[in-house]
Amino acid sequence: MTSINTHEIDIVKAKTSKIDSVDFENLTFGNVFTDHMLVCDYKDGAWEKPIIKPYEHFMIDPSAKVFHYGQAIFEGMKAYKDENDEVWLFRPDQNMERFNKSAVRMAMPEVPEHIFMDGLKTIVDLERNWVKKGIGNTLYLRPFMIAVGSGVIAQPSTQYRFMIILSPAKSYYQGEVKVIIAEHYSRAANGGIGAAKAAGNYSAQFYPQKLAQEKGFQQIIWTDDATHTKLEEAGTMNVFFKINDTLYTAPTSERILDGVTRKSIIDLAKSEGIKIEVRSVLVDELVAAAKDGSLKEIFGAGTAAVVSPIVGFQYKEHYYELPKIENSTALQLKDKLTKIQYKLADDKFGWTVKV
Ligand SMILES: *Cc1c(COP(=O)(O)O)cnc(C)c1O
Repeated sequence: MTSINTHEIDIVKAKTSKIDSVDFENLTFGNVFTDHMLVCDYKDGAWEKPIIKPYEHFMIDPSAKVFHYGQAIFEGMKAYKDENDEVWLFRPDQNMERFNKSAVRMAMPEVPEHIFMDGLKTIVDLERNWVKKGIGNTLYLRPFMIAVGSGVIAQPSTQYRFMIILSPAKSYYQGEVKVIIAEHYSRAANGGIGAAKAAGNYSAQFYPQKLAQEKGFQQIIWTDDATHTKLEEAGTMNVFFKINDTLYTAPTSERILDGVTRKSIIDLAKSEGIKIEVRSVLVDELVAAAKDGSLKEIFGAGTAAVVSPIVGFQYKEHYYELPKIENSTALQLKDKLTKIQYKLADDKFGWTVKV
């Protein structure tokens, strides 16, 4: 192993790369990881020096708070390669800001920019061979933080570990996505942690998600927990509705995650002259629009799939099918956003950042 000491980050390089053993044409999302990971520990009230080292298992105490109280947060973002082999990030400042908001909500220390952003750029640069050219090919970046301090007393840890791991990904056709509108379970509640990318939000969805899948639905449209009358998110994505010629998406709140894809789509739609309104859509409104034919599209928006069109929804034992639309607004916006990410279109918003 070669050891390099950059200004702020130690780098211990892997002796060999496993890249040649990876079948980049047949990747399942989030299963393969690159040769290195970034690790930075927080102890005695301060962050230590980050290190990038070979991807490997590590040991923490069985009583570590992450195992018992789920004190854990994460981010999800991507790196893209353009036609000239340059590697780009998409609005990474937004992910860093959101990560630190999640940290505050979970009583965890914020990660300073020189660790989050410089660490991210350094490890992506080191792994740039893992970012493949061509639309749909990305390197999925997963920064996360866990409470590693030991002791089963229910209070915030005093020790944390911030890490970044990287996984090559390929866009894939998910098949038809049918959704069911939540009438009982909730993803988030006022005063809760729904606006944070906190680990527990996701495990809490697994059971209702499983029930939905057993009924033949790929995803749940979450409604507000108090009344189940307002449409809020689609699984782990923000959700958009097109009724007549207007797009609608709910305003962010304590129950709704402030998605980078969501806000980019809002800005893109505005600049393209697509009518868009940020306001809550009611379940009754959606059902009425489906019945009178004014409901044109529903789609989820998030980093993993960018845009995920929905073909129909179930509510109170009734299934409503959406019209099949050529050149949908969902796919037009996906195309525009993707072209900016891969540097195939002018980035007038200044969203892309070179590694
Ligand atoms: C991550 C996430 C999103 C999408 O956010 P992006 O920044 O667009 O990836 C939406 N909803 C939930 C619940 C999420 O966890």
